[in-house]
Formats: sequence, structure tokens, C-alpha cells
Amino acid sequence: MQEKTFWLDTVEIPAAVTRELPQRVDVAIIGAGFTGLTATRTLAKSGATVAVFESQTIGWGASSRNGGMVLTGLKLPAATLIDRYGKEATARMYAASLESIDFVEKLVREENIACDFARCGHLEVACKPKHFDDFRRSADETARHFNHKQRIIPKNQLQSEIGSAIYHGGLVDATSAGLNPARFVAGLARAAERAGATIFEHSHVDQIQREGASGWKIATSRGTLRAKNVLVATSGYTSRVTPTLQKKIIPIGSYIIVTEALPEKLAAELSPHNRMIFDSKNYLYYYRLTPDRRMLFGGRAAFFPETSSTIRRSAEILRRGMLTVYPQLRDTKIEYVWGGTLDFAFDIMPHAGQLDGLHYSLGYAGHGVAMSTYLGDKVAQSIMQAQTGKSIRDENPFAQIPFPGAPLGFYDGRPWFLPFAGAWYKLLDWLT
Ligand SMILES: Cc1cc2nc3c(=O)[nH]c(=O)nc-3n(C[C@H](O)[C@H](O)[C@H](O)COP(=O)(O)OP(=O)(O)OC[C@H]3O[C@@H](n4cnc5c(N)ncnc54)[C@H](O)[C@@H]3O)c2cc1C
Repeated sequence: MQEKTFWLDTVEIPAAVTRELPQRVDVAIIGAGFTGLTATRTLAKSGATVAVFESQTIGWGASSRNGGMVLTGLKLPAATLIDRYGKEATARMYAASLESIDFVEKLVREENIACDFARCGHLEVACKPKHFDDFRRSADETARHFNHKQRIIPKNQLQSEIGSAIYHGGLVDATSAGLNPARFVAGLARAAERAGATIFEHSHVDQIQREGASGWKIATSRGTLRAKNVLVATSGYTSRVTPTLQKKIIPIGSYIIVTEALPEKLAAELSPHNRMIFDSKNYLYYYRLTPDRRMLFGGRAAFFPETSSTIRRSAEILRRGMLTVYPQLRDTKIEYVWGGTLDFAFDIMPHAGQLDGLHYSLGYAGHGVAMSTYLGDKVAQSIMQAQTGKSIRDENPFAQIPFPGAPLGFYDGRPWFLPFAGAWYKLLDWLT
């Protein structure tokens, strides 16, 4: 079993074209994942000079480590969102979640990115009868408030959707899609470079300082440059370089195993429509077939971000989880295991806007393949507006919502409370 991302074995992400560090750019971007690279492409296409700084290599963060599920909706249920933000604002955010998938599809087509994008839909499966009742309510609300149709699958018909007998019903949303994230992020990087931007790999941003009204001084491991605007696109890897943002984001580990390739018949039995599948627990499992018919099975096996020891422990925990869902895989070999870090805001919402003059987009909470791509574009548009004064192409519905920090301010960016949160989620799953 290899401790590495399966997706990176399906594509060689070409190294960025090497260039000298410019003295000055319009926009400096920190992080070369979906957010940073989509923003770069939009900005460079609009004529801005852009430098992207990535501590490691293109797509090294969550963008090459995820499940490749391109999902509708937000992390929180519609009823919670409506209670919190009202119907109108929630409807705009929900519409954005649908638009984000169209946006990914359009980008893939325009830039000709071979990343196995397919509108295969998602299936949410109910771990308890009560969860299936919640699915019915939620599908009704989604149709009524957001004019978006989802299909309810009762337990006695679930066999047509999944080769597992442990669930109490399901909900299908045909709008969702799947893709190969490493190929997608590689394609975004090429598109950003074609548009004229420069990506600096192995280039850590150490410090960002305000310099008068004219912009920022950015110290990197490659040298110093000036920029009119800075975009922080560091997701779960946000650090003390941007302390205000770090205190608003909780980094949480998520882990994935991938099996050997399955016989065609077995793969069709496990997931007849090749859906992106996840269950209804707080401590959830998510799984899908890869384009070459392996089972990819993920979950929050440990709450802490990835280390060699959490990855190794997760492999066994996830294998046991996979066998409770699919006992058919008892003799199937696990070939890959890896982990990555998710970015949770305290309100479990994505946030994209400006704080202390810095632009940012993060807080995707494990629901970020489509949303980070979409918000990368939105935040780039608002940077262009700040630079040129031209009005914005389309609004960002997440710019206006409050971005809360920790309750009582009890958080300095080191998530000491994660073991308690993990235990709390397990208890909730048992009780509800
Ligand atoms: C295991 C896992 C499974 C997931 N599955 C799904 C899924 O199936 N569907 C879904 O919708 N979402 C999923 N997600 C979430 C999704 O992958 C992320 O929301 C998305 O990739 C975030 O992209 P990003 O560009 O904002 O951040 P990232 O891709 O994490 O990029 C941030 C980058 O910033 C760099 N960086 C940080 N600090 C600095 C610095 N000071 N200087 C230079 N560079 C710096 C890091 O090296 C990193 O490469 C998953 C995430 C994980 C970890």
C-alpha cells in the first residue's frame, strides 16, 4: 500500500515555467490550488500581471487530495441556512452552488482539460430511518425554495443505486458531477500560465506588509516583491502569515483509501450509476468509483490534519468502514492511502471577501471542488473592480455574510479542541 495520492499517479503535473521574480505585480496570490489558480486565470485574462506563490508544488494542498466530487448545495441543510440568513440570501447562495458546477464544466470545456468531468449525480444515503425522513423534508424544501429537484429513493428501491444493504433510503441529485482533481488542477495551472501569469513553486510567502496606500510588500523564500493586491488562497493550510484569517479557520484532517481496480461486474454492482456517494452522519464516509474502476473511500478517520501516523491509522479505520458498507470488498487490496486538510469556518460556510485589506476565499468545509473554483473567479472579479473601478460582472453572494471567529475568542489558530469535537460528533451520530 502506498502512502500517496492516487490521483497523482494518473497525471504528471508539469512543473511551472521558471521565471525571475518580478519587482512589482498587480496581484500576488498565495496558494496554487483551485482557488488561487482560477483567480489567477481570470485576473491574467483581464490584463492584470499576476504572480502565484506556492510553498510546495502546483495542487499540492487539498486540490490534488480530494475525492473529486463536484457537489450541489452547501455543507449546511437548507432549513438551517434559511433560519440564519433568510430565504432570499439563502436562495442566492444555493443558486451559486448550482452555478459553480456549470462554471467548472465551462472551464473544463474552454481550457480543454482532460479530467474525466462527468455529470454522474450524487447519492446521499440515510444511516437511520430518521435521516431518511429528513431527506424527504429537505428535498421538499429544496424544490419549494430553490426550484431544484432531487429524487427520493426508498429503502426497497435502493438496490438500483447502491450495492449495500445497510442504509434506510437515499436522495439523488443528478446535477452533481465527478472529476479527477489532479488533472483538473494541472489544467488550471496551464490555463493560468497561458493567460500570462507566473507560478512560483517551492516559494513560501513568509510575510505580507501594508505599504502605504499603494499596496503590499511580500517577503517570499525567493525574494521580495510589491503588489497592489494580495489574494490569500491557502484553505486548510492557512498559517501565521495571515494571523487574522488563521484564527477564523479550523484545519481538520480527512483521509482516503483507494482499492485495486475492480472487475467490471463488481464495480457495477457497488455503484450502478457511478454516483458520488456520501452518508448522513456527522462523522461521515464519502465514496465513489474512480474512472479506472477502483473504490475510493474517504472519511474523517482522525480529526487532526495529516501526518504519517494519522494516515497509517486511517487506512485501517477506513478499510473497516468500507467493509461495513461493502462486505463484497473483503478480499480486495487497498493500494493507496493519504490525507489532506479541510478548512472549516466557525459557521461552516464558505467566505470570500476582504479583511484588513487582504482578499481571501476559504472555508469550504470539504465541499470545495466546485465552490473554490467558482469563488476564485468571483474574488478575482472584485480585485479587478478594486483596481480598475469597472463594475463587476456578477455578484458574489458570500461576500456579505458575517465571517465569525471562535466563540469568546478562545482560539489562536492551534485547534486544541479537535479531540473533543471528534468525540462530540461521534456522540451526536449515536444520539441523532
Ligand atoms: C481528503 C479530502 C477530500 C476532499 N474531498 C472533496 C470532495 O470530494 N468534494 C469537494 O467538493 N471537496 C472536497 N474536499 C475539499 C476541496 O479539496 C478543497 O475545498 C479545495 O481543494 C480547496 O482548494 P484551495 O485552492 O482553496 O486550497 P488548497 O488546494 O488546499 O491549496 C492551498 C495551497 O496553499 C499553499 N500555501 C499555504 N500557505 C502558503 C504560504 N505561506 N506560501 C505559499 N503557499 C502556501 C499550500 O501549500 C496549498 O498548496 C476534500 C478535501 C480533502 C483534504
